[in-house]
Amino acid sequence: MSARDKAAFASLPSVDRVLRAAWAAPLIADRGRPQVTDAIRAVLVELRANGGAATLATAIDDSILRVRVTERLEAMTQPSPRPVFNLTGTVVHTNLGRSRLAESAAAVMAVAATRPSNLEFDLAEGVRGDRDGHVEALVCRLTGAEASTVVNNNAAAVLLVLNTLAQGREVPTSRGELIEIGGSFRMPEIMASAGCRLREIGTTNRVHLEDYDAAIGGETGVVMKVHTSNYAIVGFTSSVAEADIAKLCRTRGVPFVIDLGSGSLVDLVRYGLPHEPMPSEALAHGADLVTFSGDKLLGGPQAGIIVGRADLIKQVKRNPMKRALRVDKTTIAALSSTLALYEDPDRLPERLPVLRELLRPAAEVRAAAHRLRDGVAAAVQGVATVEVVDCESQIGSGALPTQTIASAGLAIRPVTDRGAGSVLNRIARAFRDLPVPVIGRTHEGALVFDFRCLDDEAAFAAQLSKLDISRAG
Ligand SMILES: *Cc1c(COP(=O)(O)O)cnc(C)c1O
Repeated sequence: MSARDKAAFASLPSVDRVLRAAWAAPLIADRGRPQVTDAIRAVLVELRANGGAATLATAIDDSILRVRVTERLEAMTQPSPRPVFNLTGTVVHTNLGRSRLAESAAAVMAVAATRPSNLEFDLAEGVRGDRDGHVEALVCRLTGAEASTVVNNNAAAVLLVLNTLAQGREVPTSRGELIEIGGSFRMPEIMASAGCRLREIGTTNRVHLEDYDAAIGGETGVVMKVHTSNYAIVGFTSSVAEADIAKLCRTRGVPFVIDLGSGSLVDLVRYGLPHEPMPSEALAHGADLVTFSGDKLLGGPQAGIIVGRADLIKQVKRNPMKRALRVDKTTIAALSSTLALYEDPDRLPERLPVLRELLRPAAEVRAAAHRLRDGVAAAVQGVATVEVVDCESQIGSGALPTQTIASAGLAIRPVTDRGAGSVLNRIARAFRDLPVPVIGRTHEGALVFDFRCLDDEAAFAAQLSKLDISRAG
């Protein structure tokens, strides 16, 4: 260590001394001594760890210390999770919070969160009510179901249905449908957790009605069909129509359950999008129970919705596990408000963010890319080039995995070939370090921003001046 470094280290003040600085007093009054102490300690540790002489020589300057500590405190008191710009091109992105709620649903949710409500109270009779009652009529009207119930998410819906109807029994399911969804949702494991024995039928690519017929016996709890929501098997394939399985199940006296995954409450074809299976269709085909998510294409809060035969829903609701998987008041509020929007399908695209984003014309997204190009180019000047490119957005969360939507954005490409990968990582990191982190995706050596889901161009552009590629490590 050079003499100058040593001198600089020696002049780094102690935590106590910084706490006594005049500028620290208002911070302590505002945030409390423990938090300010933590922030100061963290800044000093950082300076000792990273500081060459130059950093230290300036860092011990009181005003710089003050800026660093204040920044640190701000970072410590950020809400968590906090908003980001989703420029990944995946509209329903599980890691970025899936569907954005409609404004109206968020408002209703906030009221339910902050005030007492008739969540489980029958106002007409003055007696205890049922939380499912707030959404059941709407769900039934939109799906044609006799009854419904709501749980924490679709994984919980599948778990609860299987545990209720098939605990200790067999569940014949096609080998081609034993899906894994990101994280730890694997159909065979969910079945095991529900206390059921998976009975695999058919092969990966083909299953026939005879396979179902042969598998059903005295041990069968339910027959299960899973919508292969995040992949497609193409080529020499065959599966059995839902109506045919339903008919067989009825003859053999076993319930038929379909896990739709996403599902859609309206036929997306009316908006020019590809068709996504609908709960109403599955029920019309003769399924006894259908499960689907509240926060995929439906565009509501995280929830799992179970619809179907009233006698089976009654059984499901009596399962003690239902209590462990139930949704809270804010979810019920947001869900009922979101479902209400479906009563007017013509206005749904303006009101439901998921649909609005899916339907945004590529030309409009491209125009945004052209408007933002120069600002981004200036922010990465000398390090990367920026060009407007066509790209493909995905719906995400397993819906319509093989269908993409034409979109546009910016491709940010390092100017040098040497070490381009690490430069690209640094650029991506710098964008993630912005006050509202920007999340893109890397594709063929470029960082690509798909602007389909950007709804506040001004806010995006305004923070570009803060981009610091040199600091990002
Ligand atoms: C997404 C999905 C699930 C899990 O739903 P969550 O709401 O994420 O719990 C289950 N099954 C299928 C087919 C899915 O696509």
